[in-house]
Amino acid sequence: MGKRAFAFAAIVVLFAAAMLALGIGPRGSERLEEAPALSEDGEQAEAPTAPLDYATITIQRGDTLSGIAQDHGVRVDTLVSFNGITDSRALRLGADIRVPNQDGLLYTAREGDDLESISARYAIPVECVRFLTGQGRVAPGDILFLAGARMDPAALQRINGDLFMMPAKGSVSSPFGLREDPFTGVKVFHHGIDLAVPWGSTVTGTRSGKVVAALRDDPTFGNYVIISHGEGYTSYYFHLSSIQVRVGQSVAQGQPIGRVGNTGAVTGTHLHFGIARRGTYFNPLDVLGKAQ
Ligand SMILES: [Zn+2]
Repeated sequence: MGKRAFAFAAIVVLFAAAMLALGIGPRGSERLEEAPALSEDGEQAEAPTAPLDYATITIQRGDTLSGIAQDHGVRVDTLVSFNGITDSRALRLGADIRVPNQDGLLYTAREGDDLESISARYAIPVECVRFLTGQGRVAPGDILFLAGARMDPAALQRINGDLFMMPAKGSVSSPFGLREDPFTGVKVFHHGIDLAVPWGSTVTGTRSGKVVAALRDDPTFGNYVIISHGEGYTSYYFHLSSIQVRVGQSVAQGQPIGRVGNTGAVTGTHLHFGIARRGTYFNPLDVLGKAQ
């Protein structure tokens, strides 16, 4: 079990314990101090939201998290948080799932947390940080409900399994890792994979993110694009014939960013595609295809 999975499990166990301690059954409700929630555009809603309550439903054949969320008028990240879900594709038939009556996240307080730091981190008013255990002052281990808070989009993408997709249709002509440099014959590390794709083919973003570089005529990389995806991930697309995005632009997964070419130090047309996490390159094939 990964650290994060363990943390989620711990939250669920603590939450269940908190419910028992408060004498709240699976269909019970809590009378918590009412607080305004955030509306869609991040403005503070004027009316206080209802007390936190939730229903327990059993997963039926064909159910999906997004379908359940839609049916009950809550967001997917709310369901993910309330049920400690680490992989939304691993929903078990017949398992129970908690569906709260409002959007928000469960949060277990850590050392150093206080109402202000939590509300700032999740961009919600202080009044939206509600105690499910503990009261008044935030102490480590307190379970809080962050009304209206949203999960980090990158974390939600990972849970939904929408990580990385192939940026172009083609076979791998040169793998990741040590290889002989085509110009010098010296063994060098190849920080990505080369895809054999016809000149002019569309190159798409491997995952949603923000363009951090869109440069032309580099002697080595040619015309190239770099996209930052959150969670420390960055992807690289080299040797393009044309670029269709600009720096600072947000791109969706699968959105065209340029076309395959042969610019820079290449022996022929191909797409060099790389992914790094916090500055360390790894084999894109380890994570590709999960969205397909
Ligand atoms: Zn390459």
